[in-house]
Amino acid sequence: MNHYRYSKQREHILSYIKSVKTHPTANVIYDELRPKFPNLSMGTVYRNLQILSDQGEITKLDFGSTFDHYDGYTNEHSHFVCTSCQQVYDMPGNYPLIDQVQKVTAHQIEGCLIKYYGLCQDCLKKVKGDN
Ligand SMILES: [Zn+2]
Ligand SMILES: [Zn+2]
Repeated sequence: MNHYRYSKQREHILSYIKSVKTHPTANVIYDELRPKFPNLSMGTVYRNLQILSDQGEITKLDFGSTFDHYDGYTNEHSHFVCTSCQQVYDMPGNYPLIDQVQKVTAHQIEGCLIKYYGLCQDCLKKVKGDN
């Protein structure tokens, strides 16, 4: 594993990502930390996010959208992405599915990435007009 010089900014980026369930993008992280670190640049944010995901501290979620989201919860779980507001929600892991597939194939399955999508509860309420 690579060893990187300790960085106070990286420390704050990590603790911010771990403290929220919103799977923030680099832009959100930048806006959040800028008041504390006026010299912070987007380049620094991206570089530290890359280091943190290389170290396994966070997971980079690529949903094929314009911006990657970052997740501080690294246990196996799935995601639900709202097609209207783009919020990312945590979903339970895929253990039952992995067990099933492992039973019918000879493969040793180590993980499973599932992306659920649709309308989240809040957007659904707006569509139905009963908020
Ligand atoms: Zn939504
Ligand atoms: Zn997550």
